Amino acid sequence: MQPFLDLKAINERQHKELSAAASRVITSGWYVLGEEVTAFEREFANYCGARHCVGVASGLDALTLMLRATILQGRLQPGDEIVVPANTYIATILAASSTGLVPRPVEPDANTHNLCPQNTIAAITSRTRAIIVVHLYGLAAPMGALRTIADEHGLLLFEDAAQAHGAKISGQSLGGQSTAAAFSFYPGKNLGALGDGGALITEDDEIADTVHTLRNYGSTQKYKNYYIGVNSRLDELQAALLRVKLPLLDSDNARRRAIARRYAIGINNPLVQIPEMPADELSHVWHLFVVRCRWRGELAAHLRNAGVGTLVHYPIPPHQQRAYADSPLAAFQLPLTEQLANEVLSLPISPVMSDAATDAVITAVNAFRSK
Ligand SMILES: *Cc1c(COP(=O)(O)O)cnc(C)c1O
Repeated sequence: MQPFLDLKAINERQHKELSAAASRVITSGWYVLGEEVTAFEREFANYCGARHCVGVASGLDALTLMLRATILQGRLQPGDEIVVPANTYIATILAASSTGLVPRPVEPDANTHNLCPQNTIAAITSRTRAIIVVHLYGLAAPMGALRTIADEHGLLLFEDAAQAHGAKISGQSLGGQSTAAAFSFYPGKNLGALGDGGALITEDDEIADTVHTLRNYGSTQKYKNYYIGVNSRLDELQAALLRVKLPLLDSDNARRRAIARRYAIGINNPLVQIPEMPADELSHVWHLFVVRCRWRGELAAHLRNAGVGTLVHYPIPPHQQRAYADSPLAAFQLPLTEQLANEVLSLPISPVMSDAATDAVITAVNAFRSK
């Protein structure tokens, strides 16, 4: 049986070190905003080559607070349009709409499923003030082209890097070409905590300061509240666990790349379209290995019968969600995004998957025939 993702096996590798870190926090008697969070922020900022890292409670909060901080700076205003990929996890869109920005969904590139620069240009109106790009499935979006578009149209550029810890563009870490980049440490991500967590990285001192304040009730000094803040702090415990896991991130990502290559060479079923291997290997950290198939339901059932777990990322695009039924989003027709929602299927991929397990998935995929 090959589960879609074996989180237990991933964390078992470091059971002793994780236990020791947890024990250290228990013994310290300090559980919120202490040395572990500060140390993790410094270590993750160093890993990313970023000036600042601010730990928060989730990836969604990292996205939301980086937008709120920019609004507080006066560089964005509620009512401004923000270009968002139509084909993304709902969190990207929730962050925009919950801060009063108006998400303008844009169809993806048909090959990578990432934000398409051409379609981005076409979506810009006189009210557009920003773009938020998602490095979907772990593949770095075309930041050079998007940076140029943002500069030419006077737009801010933000990154949702929740699926792309460790991805590099021409050797450079994510985050360097935007106002801020948001990460999630949800357990299943490439760098996952043992609970919820998130962070943003930025070169902007003021954004880092503002998010520091916002995440802690808008308070700079105990019982003095400067902003209408929130409680969104990365736990000491999660920070301590993340510090244990961060040193494995690069080798874990390398293992994911090796599995993706093995899939790409081995899968040869004409009914199953596999993702392109990027020319720049390091630009992809393979959070997900997403194939396309017109008979997606049949393929998933066939794989389930062969003992292979799969998931769909994502079955309903944000603009078709009930949550947005009464918003302008609902009026958009996004045929490629809607088609992808019906055809995509994520195969198992993780740092603890063996070559033999990968080959078993390949054999099962290649044996698929539509009825
Ligand atoms: C996981 C994810 C998020 C949200 O992260 P949480 O920590 O679950 O809030 C945001 N955007 C994308 C693209 C994600 O995959």
